[in-house]
Formats: sequence, C-alpha cells, structure tokens
Amino acid sequence: MEKNKVLIILLISFLGIESILKLNVYLIIILMTCVFTFLWYEDSNMTEKKTLKKNQKLMNERNISSKEAYLKQKQLNIIVESIPFPIVLLDIYGKIVLCNEACSLVRNLTMQEMTYIQNDFDEQIQEFMKDCYILEENMEKMMTIKNVEYRAVSIPVTTKGKFSGCMVMLQDISKVLEGEKMQKVFIADASHELKTPVSVIKGMVEILNREDFNDEVTRKDFMKQIEAETKRLENIVSDLLQLSKLSVNPILNRCKVDIHPLIDETVLSFTNVMKEKNIQLVKDYKFNDTVFCDFDKMLQVITNLISNAIKYSDCGTIRITTESDDKYFILKIQDEGVGMSKEDCDKIFERFYRADKDRSRKSGGSGLGLSIVKSIIDAHQGIIEVESELNVGSIFTIKLKN
Ligand code: ADP
Repeated sequence: MEKNKVLIILLISFLGIESILKLNVYLIIILMTCVFTFLWYEDSNMTEKKTLKKNQKLMNERNISSKEAYLKQKQLNIIVESIPFPIVLLDIYGKIVLCNEACSLVRNLTMQEMTYIQNDFDEQIQEFMKDCYILEENMEKMMTIKNVEYRAVSIPVTTKGKFSGCMVMLQDISKVLEGEKMQKVFIADASHELKTPVSVIKGMVEILNREDFNDEVTRKDFMKQIEAETKRLENIVSDLLQLSKLSVNPILNRCKVDIHPLIDETVLSFTNVMKEKNIQLVKDYKFNDTVFCDFDKMLQVITNLISNAIKYSDCGTIRITTESDDKYFILKIQDEGVGMSKEDCDKIFERFYRADKDRSRKSGGSGLGLSIVKSIIDAHQGIIEVESELNVGSIFTIKLKN
C-alpha cells in the first residue's frame, strides 16, 4: 500500500511540475485538490484500520481471559469433585452454587436425581448450613448421618471484606473415633492386666507383714506366688514395650538368615520344659536356602510360637517344618495340644485375647505374644495363619516372600 501511495504522489508531482512549467493554473488547482483528497482518504482509512486492529486485539484478550476463567472453573470443579468428603459452597443468598459427588453420602436423592437444591440434604446439615449462612462465622458441629460420624465445619467466604457466602465441609471421623476407642480399650486392658498381679502381690505382702503371722508353709507358698506374679508383670511390661516399639518404628534390619540354626538354637532353650512334659520334637527341614528377614525379630517369632506350642500341650509331639513354594518360604509349627475353637482362632492375634485363660495365667502369659508375632510378620509383609481343633492340636503357618 505504501508503495502505491509513493507512485501516485510521484505521478501527481510530475504532472504538477509539467503544469507549472506550462503555467496551466487550472490544472495546478485540480491536481492540488486531488492530492489533498487522496491524502485525507488515506489518513481516515488508516485511522479506521487502527481502530479495527485495536478492537480485534481487545476481542482476542477478552476471549483469552474468558477461556482462562473457563479453565480455572473447570480446574476448581475437578478439585472439588476429587475431594473424598462432602463439600458445599453457598452463595450470598444461602443458595448452593457448588457441591461435589461425595455429597451423595449425606443426601436423600440418588446421584441422577440430584440438583443444586438444598432440601434433600440430611436435616442436620440443612440446619447447619442455615446457621452458617445467618451467623456468617466459622462453625463446627459433630453429627451422625447414616451411621457415619461426621465433623461439619463451615468457613465464611469474603470478597473485598464483605461476606459473600460460605463453604461447608463434612469430615468422616469414624475411623479416628474408632482408633480412639481402641486406644481406650487397650489402656483399660493393659491397666487391668497390670493391676491383677500387683493386687495379688500387695495382698500377700500385707499378710506376710502382719505381726502375728508365723505360718512357715504359707510363707513359702506366698513367696513362690509373689515370684510368679513378679515374673508375669515383667513379661507384660516387656511385651508392651516391644509392641509399642513395633507400632512406632516397624523398621526391619533385613539380611540373609540361615533359618535352621536359628530354629535349633531356640528349641535348645526349651529342652528342659519339653523333657518335663514328655514332649517329642520332630524337625522336617525341606528348605535349603536363606531367608531374607530381620534376624532378631524372626528369633522372637520362632520363640513365641514354640513357647506356645509347649505351653498349650501336656504331651505329644511338636513338628517343625520348613519348605518353600515358588513365592514363599514356609514355616509350620504343629502341636498336639489343647487346640482352639474356630471363634478363638479368629481372635488370638488381638492384644490380651486368651482362649485358655487359666493355662495362660498359670504359665505367666501376657496375652501379647501372638500380637507381637503378627506385628513382626506384617512388617515383613508376610502371612500368618492358624488351623486348630479343640483337644487335637494347632498348626501355626508363617509365609515370608522368597
Ligand atoms: P499368651 O501369653 O496368653 O500365651 P499369646 O498371645 O501368645 O498369649 O496367645 C494368645 C492365646 O492364644 C493364648 O492365651 C492361647 O489361648 C491361644 N494359643 C496360642 N498358641 C496356642 C497353641 N499352640 N495351642 C492352643 N492355644 C494357643
């Protein structure tokens, strides 16, 4: 365009010079008018083009910002949807403007039937949302909806310092409450377990300290019992410490362990008790490799299982088998002792659970041995199973990945 303009000006200038030379005044006037008209037209054309360009730029900018806003809205929706607990956003009029899929947990309609209406929410939430909207402040309330415990929290939303709605969230706290309940039960059980031997010891010491007490046979018997109860206390405390260590720090010190010498050494420490009870031992070692495990913790597992097999047998045979399949190293400890019912088998790994209370008590058991075994095997990502039949015997099986 600029080239054309220059050519036209050059042509007009040439004609103008020629007219001046020939002194043609009329032609000069006509030519001058043409030049001015052309220049004015070009100028106005340019202004129009500039305005058009500016408008186009503005429109592009507007398109980009509306695209950005759309993307941001989409991102926000995705975030809100992916939050696993119910979340609702109310506007300045108290109407729902946003709620995620998890809200279906606290609404009466199905997901397909749901709209942004308020009155199908559980009544407690409706009340809570109303209060949050009216009071315009942070609020918190516990509620039970469809047998689930929730902590409802509201946060007021402000724009330029003015209330513009509020956000209501419902946090499922059933697991937290369950954990707290379990902790309370555990503390109560532990206190009870510790209290029993302490009470026995205290009672006997009081009797022994009486000024008129002079019964030598009873004194000897009491002293034996005090010794046994002290041992029991010691066992409970050391098992509790071990369990707490395992739950706080279940880090393993794994290495390749030659498992058979480890079993042999453990069995050796029980030789006297086994002789006393006339218990035979059969070793059936088919495994011929090392096991990748924590040596000390594995020693603890084997000790607890062999000790139980002896404790809960009056005679018979204890068979220890090692084998492997394509996935696991397998250790089986089988006894012909008192055995357990199916219901007991499901519970024996719980802390302080005892199927045979009398025997456990007499042998100074803490009721924590199998919980410790289970925690250790879990830390190894292994499997522990039990098969048992009353008055027939039990088989404890441990599987550790090869
Ligand atoms: P305890 O100190 O009472 O032995 P454990 O946690 O080691 O605690 O075992 C829990 C309960 O499981 C025991 O009280 C006992 O009733 C049962 N039990 C464990 N091992 C055997 C077994 N080999 N035969 C029969 N019962 C067993």
